[in-house]
Amino acid sequence: MLSVLDIFRIGIGPSSSHTVGPMRIANRFWKRLKVQGHREATHRIRMIFRGSLAFTGLGHGTPRAGELGLLGFKPETIDLDKAEAALTDLRTQQAFTRDGQTVQFDPDLDLIIDYDQPADLHPNEMEMQAFGASGDLIYARTYYSTGGGFTASHTQLCKPAKNDRVATHKGDVPYPFGSAADLLGLCDQHDLTISDIVCANEDARRPREQTNDQFDRVTDVMLAGIERGLNTTGILPGGLKVKRRASDIWAKLTTMPAANEKETLFDWLNVYAMAVNEENAAGGQVVTAPTNGAAGIIPAIIRYYCCDDAAVPDYKKIRIFLATAGGVGLLYKQRASISGAEMGCQGEVGVACSMAAAGLAAVWGASPNQIASAAEIGMEHNLGLTCDPVGGLVQIPCIERNAIGAVKAANAARLALHGTDQGKVTLDQVIETMRQTGLDMSSKYKETSQGGLAVNVIEC
Ligand code: SF4
Repeated sequence: MLSVLDIFRIGIGPSSSHTVGPMRIANRFWKRLKVQGHREATHRIRMIFRGSLAFTGLGHGTPRAGELGLLGFKPETIDLDKAEAALTDLRTQQAFTRDGQTVQFDPDLDLIIDYDQPADLHPNEMEMQAFGASGDLIYARTYYSTGGGFTASHTQLCKPAKNDRVATHKGDVPYPFGSAADLLGLCDQHDLTISDIVCANEDARRPREQTNDQFDRVTDVMLAGIERGLNTTGILPGGLKVKRRASDIWAKLTTMPAANEKETLFDWLNVYAMAVNEENAAGGQVVTAPTNGAAGIIPAIIRYYCCDDAAVPDYKKIRIFLATAGGVGLLYKQRASISGAEMGCQGEVGVACSMAAAGLAAVWGASPNQIASAAEIGMEHNLGLTCDPVGGLVQIPCIERNAIGAVKAANAARLALHGTDQGKVTLDQVIETMRQTGLDMSSKYKETSQGGLAVNVIEC
């Protein structure tokens, strides 16, 4: 069973599957060469991107992320200034030195965007190859970036699927759950909240203080992303000439006489979500929640509902929020997917909306059934949402979509609190519906920029 901390990972923009995942894969391969005893003989490395990593990789900064991983940078700790300097060295020298070993890597020759060979087991495929001094291929391994920064090797994905993936790890945690029905049953049986169940499972992995520290760190990074986004102006990188808008809206909200329109709630949620996603689009630091493309929804809700007027966070409340939202995120990850390349945007913004609705309902004191209902409503009205980023950049429709997702999440939580049970549609049913819809969706609408807005909006 996965940890909720795997759902909330600190990394850099613009994409968890196309930036964070490839960076991790390149690092994994470097370690793998050592484990397999091939590292010393490695003279040259090559990386090949296929599927969605090829089609939208350039817009998502995938090649750069792969190179940074090869150079030893990690998403959680990357220093962006040092990273830029290291990339310049790599391009000039066409080689890099790591762990005392110099390896050839010419980005013009050794970084291949393969549009022809289809991806095999998952739409985000990345093959890594190592060559010896005489140019012979000595080792190759294929990996997949499976969404939200998760990665898997070809061998891992080939393992036969289990009907109940959680059942195989039952001994790991005190309250294993593989479905929302399991989770609600555990809450009922032990008279615990969803957050209690999730935290008790985390306690089996590490002391509670460490989990809390990580929740607080994640909160700080989310809120810092909002602050940077609110205070940065200019044009986003990538060539679409998209202007940052959060700072202008923020200036209006904070300098104009307090508006008494009821709709200002939308403005606040919009501005916080857009601030994060503009930072993400600019390659800044964000938290996967559950992905980078959907990174603005949960921070927007936390900033509006769990911080005071001076933006001071209520960490205790936020831990309950994150544990609950993370528990719901685990259900999507375990029963379907959080990858836009597999599910379309319903698997990113839809899941984030569902998680945020559950977290907000929890801090409002909702029962487990009401929380599940909030999560269900948050997804039900995102079903079928396609992924069609213009120019392959995580900007249009992604930035505004997070704003709309945040407003929808608050509304879903509100609606759920008016009921007492899960309603006609259960959370498990809506997750399964999302999965089936994702499978049926044409690949044109799954992070390939070959359909939708991506082909109808002229890039200029
Ligand atoms: S459209 Fe949605 S899934 Fe696609 S890149 Fe944008 S946020 Fe991610």
